[in-house]
Amino acid sequence: MRARIVRMTEEKLDREALAQAGEILRRGGLVAFPTETVYGLGGNALDPEASRKIYEAKGRPSDNPLIVHIADLEHLEPLVEKIPEKARILAKKCWPGPLTMIFSKSSLVPEATTGGLPSVAVRMPDHQVALELIRQAGGYVAAPSANTSGRPSPTEAAHVEADLGDRIDMIVDGGPVGIGLESTIVDFTEEVPTILRPGYLNQQMLEELIGQVRMDRGLTLEAGVRPKAPGMKYKHYAPKGDLTIVEGPGQRVVEEINRLAQEKCLQGFRVGIIAVEETAPSYTQGMVKCIGSRKDEESIARQLYRVLRDFDALEADYIYSEAFETPRMGQAIMNRLLKAAGHKIIKV
Ligand code: AMP
Ligand code: MG
Repeated sequence: MRARIVRMTEEKLDREALAQAGEILRRGGLVAFPTETVYGLGGNALDPEASRKIYEAKGRPSDNPLIVHIADLEHLEPLVEKIPEKARILAKKCWPGPLTMIFSKSSLVPEATTGGLPSVAVRMPDHQVALELIRQAGGYVAAPSANTSGRPSPTEAAHVEADLGDRIDMIVDGGPVGIGLESTIVDFTEEVPTILRPGYLNQQMLEELIGQVRMDRGLTLEAGVRPKAPGMKYKHYAPKGDLTIVEGPGQRVVEEINRLAQEKCLQGFRVGIIAVEETAPSYTQGMVKCIGSRKDEESIARQLYRVLRDFDALEADYIYSEAFETPRMGQAIMNRLLKAAGHKIIKV
């Protein structure tokens, strides 16, 4: 099977194609679609067979639950046992948007969708193509990122096609995504709302809306503490080459990366370097890719996964990256970059 590809923009929806995509989902098929964060691989969230197909297409471990996507607030109630007041506030203020919330699930949601957990993750994406598709599909679309499990998440339809083009029914191409990192996940089954995965919305922004919000202790890599989101424990977002992050004062980082790159180049390896506009001209070795500008942290988030995939295409054996502890999204960017690097970091 080769996925049918349909193209459209948020401004000009192809409603006929979306009706067909919705029909595929209603019948238990798989459709990849754009959201504001990354591309999702959609299946009917209430159909255990469709969820099983998603796991199979991605090669995803079956204990790693899926996020249920909705398009209208009244579709939240039937999925969950109860909606805490603070979750209602976040839903009102942040949806549609890059926020996923976890609740105790109702019996409507099959365990095949939640990886056997008694809780369910729900999100309303801020993308007209996604919202219309979800409505056409009947309101409940389970959608993990549309990549092969373990690889960088897809931020363009071409990434989806490369990973899953021969395993799913349709790809809706809505162009490159806006944010480029997965949603912030907040767990409301805990006494204090807890961030299980950092994203575009950070702890401080959420605390301004609902008061105290914690970070999951498993995120800080304390010895022996497991992340609560099952997906956060896997090596993830990883390019094929061996990625190392170099952290420290700007000039020292450039010197160290140049030194490491030269060493590997002399041994005959293909070396990639992840730089920013400000530093790119200072690298003298290897294949240099510019991820964005330090003055525009959103550019760094948006291009991270594409750059990692570009180095796969270039067959880089070793990749060296600067660290990006930027003010607002730094936590989310570094969370993904560290996982992509298997936590290999050199401090200079
Ligand atoms: P993805 O859809 O590929 O962005 O991955 C979804 C993420 O949400 C994974 O890290 C999952 O482990 C996490 N997740 C989904 N549902 C739950 C849940 N009920 N409890 C904890 N984590 C969840
Ligand atoms: Mg994913």
